[in-house]
Amino acid sequence: MFVGIKKKILIVDDELFFREILKDALQERFDIISGKDGFEAVSLSKKYRPDLIIMDVEMPGKNGIEACRILKTESQTRKIPILLFTSRTQKKDMVLGLKAGADDYITKPVYLPEIIARVDAHLRGKDFYADLNRDDLRSLLEITDTISAIRNPMTILRLIVEKMSEIMDVDRCSIISINDNEDIIVKASSDLDSLKELKLDLSRYPEIRKSLELKQTVIVNDIKNDPLMASVREETINLEYNSIIVIPVVKKESVIGTLFLRTASTSKNGITDRISKLCQLIANISASALENAILFESVQAAQEYFEEMAIRDGLTGLYNHRHFYDRLEGEFSRADRYATPLSLVFFDIDNFKRINDNYGHTRGDQVLKKIGRLIKGIARESDVPARYGGEEFAIILPNTTEGGAFDLANRIRNVIRDYEFEHLPGEQITISSGVSTYLNKNVQSLNELVHLADDGMYKAKNQGKDMVLQA
Ligand code: GH3
Ligand code: MG
Ligand code: MG
Repeated sequence: MFVGIKKKILIVDDELFFREILKDALQERFDIISGKDGFEAVSLSKKYRPDLIIMDVEMPGKNGIEACRILKTESQTRKIPILLFTSRTQKKDMVLGLKAGADDYITKPVYLPEIIARVDAHLRGKDFYADLNRDDLRSLLEITDTISAIRNPMTILRLIVEKMSEIMDVDRCSIISINDNEDIIVKASSDLDSLKELKLDLSRYPEIRKSLELKQTVIVNDIKNDPLMASVREETINLEYNSIIVIPVVKKESVIGTLFLRTASTSKNGITDRISKLCQLIANISASALENAILFESVQAAQEYFEEMAIRDGLTGLYNHRHFYDRLEGEFSRADRYATPLSLVFFDIDNFKRINDNYGHTRGDQVLKKIGRLIKGIARESDVPARYGGEEFAIILPNTTEGGAFDLANRIRNVIRDYEFEHLPGEQITISSGVSTYLNKNVQSLNELVHLADDGMYKAKNQGKDMVLQA
């Protein structure tokens, strides 16, 4: 009878959902056994002798670390590699887990291709970490700790190359990306001025091209004689280093291009297993740190966008009514505290109804939009221009006297009157404007200041429009 030769994996997690996801991802290639706590981890391991155990740390009853300790002391189960899951916030679990004998750890939330890659790595060679010494492991933990707290992708890249040349006896570490034109962009390098990016020609780096094509690690142990380097033989003759390793940094989404870790060594030993594993692990660590950082940046950018949208008027891009009051509150109390003048300019478009009636609402909208742009162009950086309502605008002028406010209001009035609006041939658009100023406690509240500007505006309407007045 044919006996299946699939390798066995034991999945231990108290969450059924998680067990099912993993089972789904792995069952095609492996026989899956699953358990829900540390007790089952031990009993099932003894019963079935799996080739690998994937286990969560946090479980009720006997947790993953305790189970790990037992499994690693008993002779029947000692040699089974254990891959522990820890949540990102529980760094100490990871250290405890490794101390208890775990062979590897993955942080939750998990990314399936990463798990599959790790599972393969462990089943390929059970002692993946055998070539690494205690200091290496400590350095890796340190790097993980340091970079997982960083939110800027470029800073992460620079830190990685710096740390790599610290812990390994290698001569040059770089992180490179490849753009659509097949240029190599050196993002960070141990011997490059840290803030500059350097552009290189991919055709001069066959080892990188090969890694790009195969999406796999490429090791060249004898640069001057390796056939892969034949096309660039002349250039390699004078190189001091004689071995190179190139590792693709695999990310969920290639947001910042295709990244590779390239390390060169002058050592006569070439790229040792230790260096190759350290590089591989660092590439893994970089990938998840970068991913988090990129995610963080995009979430932040989205948040900033929504925050900005919330305070803007959609048509004109000026601040909206609510933000006008928020800012006015701040400026009013500041003017109060520092006894500086604060002015307001209100204006309303004259006979705007007629524009809508004669040219349609859409043309009316275009006029409002254009007026928004004109105001932006005229106001100072410190001014706060807002769309107060339909065809009514308001501008906060911090640190501005009555004279300054009249000046600005008249400039706006003239610019709008002289502007030739598209599709409105021969049409002259005018505004009526009111100005108010707060100085030396002449008004009691910001509402009073608003009312004064509003009164000035209606006075201008009543006295014939196209003018700027005070209440
Ligand atoms: P006055 O000189 O007295 O201000 O006359 P007016 O026609 O401008 O004043 P009224 O307040 O009677 O009408 C304002 C018009 O502005 C009516 C309204 O349809 C138009 N309006 C308000 N908001 C918008 C808008 O967002 N888009 C367009 N196209 N028109 C708007
Ligand atoms: Mg009007
Ligand atoms: Mg109006």
